[in-house]
Amino acid sequence: MIPEIKLEYGVFSTATEACAAAEKAQKDYVKNFTLNDRKRFIQAIRDAYMANVDAISNLEYEETGYGRPDDKRTKNIGTILAVPGVEYLPSNMFFGNDGLTVEYYAPFGVVGAVTPVTNPTATVCGNGVANLAAGNSVVFNPHPDAKVSTCFALQIINKAIVGCGGPNNMLCCCKNPSLDSLDEIMAFPSVTLLIGTGGPGMVKTLMSSGKKVIAAGPGNPPSIIDDDINCADAAKGIISSSAFENNLMCIAEKEVFVLDSIFDEFVQELQKAGAKVLTRDEGKIMNSRCVLPKPNGNGYATNKDFVGRNTNFILHSCGIKCEGDPRIAVFEADNDDPLVQTEQMMPILPLVRCKNFEEAMERAYRAEHNCKHSATIWSNNSRHVTDFGKLINTTVFVQNGPTLAAFGQGGSGTSAPTIATPTGEGPTGPWSFVRKRRFAMAGGLNYLL
Ligand code: NAD
Repeated sequence: MIPEIKLEYGVFSTATEACAAAEKAQKDYVKNFTLNDRKRFIQAIRDAYMANVDAISNLEYEETGYGRPDDKRTKNIGTILAVPGVEYLPSNMFFGNDGLTVEYYAPFGVVGAVTPVTNPTATVCGNGVANLAAGNSVVFNPHPDAKVSTCFALQIINKAIVGCGGPNNMLCCCKNPSLDSLDEIMAFPSVTLLIGTGGPGMVKTLMSSGKKVIAAGPGNPPSIIDDDINCADAAKGIISSSAFENNLMCIAEKEVFVLDSIFDEFVQELQKAGAKVLTRDEGKIMNSRCVLPKPNGNGYATNKDFVGRNTNFILHSCGIKCEGDPRIAVFEADNDDPLVQTEQMMPILPLVRCKNFEEAMERAYRAEHNCKHSATIWSNNSRHVTDFGKLINTTVFVQNGPTLAAFGQGGSGTSAPTIATPTGEGPTGPWSFVRKRRFAMAGGLNYLL
């Protein structure tokens, strides 16, 4: 059962009250606590979050109906354990005969953060910890359909800070978030930085505020399957990422361009790895039901009834037989199919047969629509990897692995629920949410020599 939201530990009736409380807390935080205290608080948050990870993940699933509870648990664990803390705050120093100058990084103060319904709690813990490391407090404006799990997650974080002697209300939220409460946050004088994770409408709204914005927008990540790879590895890799959370993740592969010479072998390997392979006719049904023409006639949008739902639910709803619970369905698509060109966020994956590498590269580039988000290539040909990397120019680019590999899952890297694509900060961390300051010890006096 979905619990009532309680007005305590960071949750307030209005956004303005939340901003005022966050402002007071942040002043206390930077005045009375040291970097070592921040480390202590963050360790307590990691422990408390891990202790409650089942409850958080299950509540998010129950409230939103998106994704899979086990995957949400994995996602939350991956985020809370690998989100970078105080140790990732950068610094820089210049010295010489004329003195010593240190560049260091100061908090913005109070940050406003908009979070997506597809990834609400991991975004609260990821943005929350990174901002606490940076010295900021945060007022979240979650998607209304994820407000209960968002409040629950941030209350666990606030309780952990208070439990080791820190200030309450470092992460705040209002009970009923809406576009009006976002207006209140954007207008609040001491909110000087806005972080937005979501689709294009949200990015446009934040940009209109006149304040600094770190925006993490949508994508439509393509993958290329070159003809010199191990098809079984590639098939397993694609499924591990595209099927994870029923393809809700913004970084997950949304369409695959496969060279003709290995297309059939790749499909067989996908099937062996658990994918349901649809016929061409079933693929046509997917194209007409999973994405829908936009009301303004300008392209297609994903069908929200199917976003983040299980494969068998989507197939049954479309009158297609499906036994068991396959993690993903694939079908051979034409390059212009709406499912190839639209960010579908569901486990229905179109595969496009390409006559050669150049054609695959060109098609993948077009399908990404210059979102500069994420892409992968399965290839052992360095020339191909380099050419595609230069052309696609995405923030996240992975060779021979799923996109998740760039975030520490099957590869190296920190976790980051917010990948700032249009504004260019890339995978975010404490280094993204700080102001650069310079302190100079002027004159020199041969101090260092
Ligand atoms: P969404 O754009 O519908 O909503 C995102 C947030 O913005 C929500 O809190 C929502 O209430 C708010 N919002 C929506 N329209 C708004 C508007 N016009 N003005 C102000 N706020 C508005 O997206 P969603 O369905 O919640 O999330 C999925 C989208 O987010 C996908 O496009 C996905 O690619 C993207 N996403 C990107 C990243 C990234 O790091 N780049 C991470 C997660 C999700």
